[in-house]
Amino acid sequence: MSKLFQNYKRAQIEFVQAEGNYLVDQQGQRYLDFSSGIGVTNLGFHPEVVHALQQQAAHIWHTPNLYHNQLQEEVAEKLIGDKDYVALFCNSGTEANEAAIKLARKATGKQSIITFKQSFHGRTYGAMSATGQDKIKQGFGEGVPHFHYAQFNEIESVKALITEDTAAVMLELIQGESGIIPAQPEFVHNLAALCKAHDILLIVDEVQTGMGRTGKLFSFEHYGIEPDIFTLAKGLGNGVPVGAMLGKSELSPAFDYGSHGSTFGGNKLAMAASSATLDVMLAPGFLAHTLQKGNDLKAQLTKQLKGHEHVIEVRGLGNMIGIETTLNINDVVEAARAQGLIVLTAGTNVIRLLPPLALSQTEIEQGVRILVEVLS
Ligand SMILES: *Cc1c(COP(=O)(O)O)cnc(C)c1O
Repeated sequence: MSKLFQNYKRAQIEFVQAEGNYLVDQQGQRYLDFSSGIGVTNLGFHPEVVHALQQQAAHIWHTPNLYHNQLQEEVAEKLIGDKDYVALFCNSGTEANEAAIKLARKATGKQSIITFKQSFHGRTYGAMSATGQDKIKQGFGEGVPHFHYAQFNEIESVKALITEDTAAVMLELIQGESGIIPAQPEFVHNLAALCKAHDILLIVDEVQTGMGRTGKLFSFEHYGIEPDIFTLAKGLGNGVPVGAMLGKSELSPAFDYGSHGSTFGGNKLAMAASSATLDVMLAPGFLAHTLQKGNDLKAQLTKQLKGHEHVIEVRGLGNMIGIETTLNINDVVEAARAQGLIVLTAGTNVIRLLPPLALSQTEIEQGVRILVEVLS
């Protein structure tokens, strides 16, 4: 009997090796990975990241945040570019969102935060309370108060929840866990204007959509907005646990000395991996190329699944793609795996694809062929 809590449903297969965009199991079977470990290994198994980690491990792994950390400065600079943010590092998506929630409350002196139905922000009490799905909260008692849930893509439902005490609105620009549901551009523009008019902070959870997933470093770049606060994790270290919360520099005084912290946050191994990951992503033309690859994958799926009786819609942006289907999604995941393709589910009826960003033409064709077959 396993000595582990049974809070996951694990397939009886173990990956023991990664090779580029492929995974190898203990039997030596190879699988094309269209999941990136749930949107984490966005570069696949990448030699530059491996090299950076090996180099760093040979020198020093960890220093606490009591000392200057040049790698944190470097990663922050790479993330921010010429924008006007400051960064704080942590270890996961849920922690990044905790930091965002704390910063929003402290900077505004207000408590209420509007989030959205069907959203997902993490599993710790603050982020869980921000999450607009009852099933995530079942059995855990009272959450953090003052979260209110609006209808995604409905600006009137946001307006109806605004009070004197509203500190922030927080959203995913493409809801990931609940089914790859993109925010409409008009909704996002109206939301940004609404927040500005009412002095409400706009928080974008980029934990899944960030780090090149949608073909830009951050998905908000597609919408032509700049949130007051945004959060990262999953793809930031290409598999090394790390998260980040970025806020406009005018919010910086709210997180003054002693206000927040983390023992591991921004540790040297995590920063070495993040820095190398960003070097690959920010190389000229890389992200544009991945956007084209993602568009190509979606176009091929759309074309080949068109009019298909079990397929309702193919949607998404860049390499974040959902296939809404009438089939049992767990059966589809298993059937794809049996043919050597790893995919994910989202919500109740969506096959979620989060492939590595730089798929080759051959890999796209292989993935599409298997998906078309198992959805038949
Ligand atoms: C995965 C995810 C989180 C939680 O990240 P963890 O690292 O698992 O804590 C938060 N928000 C979004 C949008 C996510 O996809």
